[in-house]
Amino acid sequence: MAKNYTSYSEIKSGLKSGEITAESLVTGYLQQIKAKAHLNVFNEVFEDEALISAKNIDLRIANGTAGKLAGMVIAIKDNICYKGHKVTASSKILKDFTSIYSSTVVERLLAEDAIIIGRCNCDEFAMGAANENSFFGPVKNYADEAHVSGGSSGGSAVAVQAGMCHAAIGTDTGGSVRQPASFCGVIGLKPTYGRISRHGIISYASSFDQVGPLTRSVADAALLLEVLAGADEHDSTVSQMPVPESGSLKKETGKKKIAYLQEALSSPGVNADVKATLTHYIEKLRADGHTVTPISFELLDYLVPTYYILAMAEASSNLARYDGVHYGYRSPNATDLESTYKLSRSEGFGKEVKRRIMLGTFVLSAGYYDAYYAKAQKVRRLIQNETNRLLNNFDFILTPTAPEPAFALGLKEKDPVVTYLYDIFTVQASLAGMPAISLPAGNNSKGLPLGLQLLTKSFDEQALLNFSDYFMQL
Ligand code: GLN
Repeated sequence: MAKNYTSYSEIKSGLKSGEITAESLVTGYLQQIKAKAHLNVFNEVFEDEALISAKNIDLRIANGTAGKLAGMVIAIKDNICYKGHKVTASSKILKDFTSIYSSTVVERLLAEDAIIIGRCNCDEFAMGAANENSFFGPVKNYADEAHVSGGSSGGSAVAVQAGMCHAAIGTDTGGSVRQPASFCGVIGLKPTYGRISRHGIISYASSFDQVGPLTRSVADAALLLEVLAGADEHDSTVSQMPVPESGSLKKETGKKKIAYLQEALSSPGVNADVKATLTHYIEKLRADGHTVTPISFELLDYLVPTYYILAMAEASSNLARYDGVHYGYRSPNATDLESTYKLSRSEGFGKEVKRRIMLGTFVLSAGYYDAYYAKAQKVRRLIQNETNRLLNNFDFILTPTAPEPAFALGLKEKDPVVTYLYDIFTVQASLAGMPAISLPAGNNSKGLPLGLQLLTKSFDEQALLNFSDYFMQL
């Protein structure tokens, strides 16, 4: 069995000493992918291509011209365009669609000699928190195959968890990198809104969507952020702010002011193991000299409704492009223009996507716009202001990533509102645009991973990563 390296620096030294080759790494991961195919992680494995690129990279390593990520084997979520490769967003409507250009993130990975091993299953159009909304079926959690992987980047999380690649790239609109990371015991970073280009990412809710890495070490999250982040002429929403260099990750020695959400410990909706883990870390942090203070976020009850009104509104607009004419699936039963639209969309989209398009259209429609969409925008501003105010007084906000560990497959599928509430801790950073990271914090007695989330000021990923690295040693 292939060795699972915690950080890329170990791979780099193995490649340098000749102990391993990029080709042997790819071969090892391909074996794992085959052995664990029943987890349903990949929508497609780029087997031959990954082997060819590994051979080329081995040559470049030998002659000293290899890039920063040479030999890092990466899986990408199947909503990230890669020229000449299919990209489906795990939807029937894009089942046979091939990208005609590469996303900026793919280009930046390849420019640094990363090897892309395949595209990962996810919730359809990234809508979900369990990876049970995929046209290609759910992804199973490697810690317990009867449990969900989390979503929507569930395939990306399990690919790292189960040793099918070294790191993965996901997208996070309301928690889709952080929540599956916590369900699968890996690290998931959602950078500040505007940190990483979304050029070539299939849009879900454009005022929230961000790309983020799923890794086994904080150092790798920092390295991938360094490679992926920064201004892009193809995406005007990317900030010009300087990108932290991964090499500048510092050993954290300062004493921090940390706020934790007291409702996370008092609310009956939060699982006992999650509460115990949070309490345990609060005590550890205090013992180490940090100030850890309980806070109440007065807009807590409004987080999930505000997020869902806005995300659905934006989704209804973004998904209007799938009309059976421009892209993807066209119903064979269509007879004229109207039936082309109606049937292609009815047959091409899954249940959850249709629900969101309808609700999103509703909140944007004349007569309801002011009551829902415009009001949610105002509440979003209040949430941003209040979060900023807290971060003027505290360095970090600590919460669980999710209120429960991974639940059983099929359990929550029937009531969408129950799954929406799963996003209670992740959507604050999404609404406010701040960076947040999910860090593995041990397993419960059934062996299911638990994750804690740290949130900080916009564009302060450097501080977030420094502290996360320290947190992981606690
Ligand atoms: N669970 C949230 C949703 O369904 C978040 C998904 C995401 O971040 N893509 O919208």
